[in-house]
Amino acid sequence: MARRRQVYEGKAKILFEGPEPGTLVQYFKDDATAFNAQKKGTITGKGVLNNRISEYLMVRLAEIGIPTHFIRRLNMREQLIREVEIIPLEIVVRNVAAGSLATRLGIQEGTRLPRSIVEYYYKNDALSDPMVSEEHVTCFGWASTQDLDDIVALTLRINDFLTGLFLGVGIVLVDFKVEFGRLYENEEMRIVLADEISPDNCRLWDSKTGEKMDKDRFRRDLGKVEEGYQEVARRLGILPEAGVRDLKGPELMQ
Ligand code: C5P
Repeated sequence: MARRRQVYEGKAKILFEGPEPGTLVQYFKDDATAFNAQKKGTITGKGVLNNRISEYLMVRLAEIGIPTHFIRRLNMREQLIREVEIIPLEIVVRNVAAGSLATRLGIQEGTRLPRSIVEYYYKNDALSDPMVSEEHVTCFGWASTQDLDDIVALTLRINDFLTGLFLGVGIVLVDFKVEFGRLYENEEMRIVLADEISPDNCRLWDSKTGEKMDKDRFRRDLGKVEEGYQEVARRLGILPEAGVRDLKGPELMQ
């Protein structure tokens, strides 16, 4: 069988041409990077877990009416998604001070914010994804004011829903990053949630102990990185049936 055409390779995922026009196959790698790829490593089984976790969260979000690019999971490491025009912005939502907010503004990590904060970053590796304002976003045409209104409304709904969902399994959603894309259907354009939602792009802390269960374990050399991701999947009730022994999963499908 002919190898599928690779459309894009990112740091944690590969996109292949999908079986039908307008679809793509999103393959989750075990590769991990941090600090704009200055730190590189592998987290065994991460791709399998993120595929499951992102599927689970996107399906739950679709149930409350959030449009997403997700169609269905294909196997341990791949999911079928709708091809969208990615908006070159990383949208970060924060509920508790951590990471770059804590560092940049000198706010103690773990301080609960009086209200959720939404930040925009311009997706550009060469520039290390700089933070930008709405003025920059609209001035340079990365998104229109209407696009941004939709993006912020969706992001706040996603934050409210995921905060409750995680709290229900003893996890505080500290902050997370999402990406959106434009989906063109019947001459109409809709903004939909794209990329992934997983411990790679969320900060998830145990609500009792404060223990980190996300990529900060890798970024900060805290050890037990796989275990953190597995614990998130376990609490959500979605550890792969085969259990943790089989997390490497099949190699890249032909
Ligand atoms: O590093 P910072 O504190 O700005 O990250 C905020 C949130 O966005 C974290 O949950 C982090 O995992 C996520 N993020 C991401 N991709 C980036 C930068 C941040 O997923 N390039």
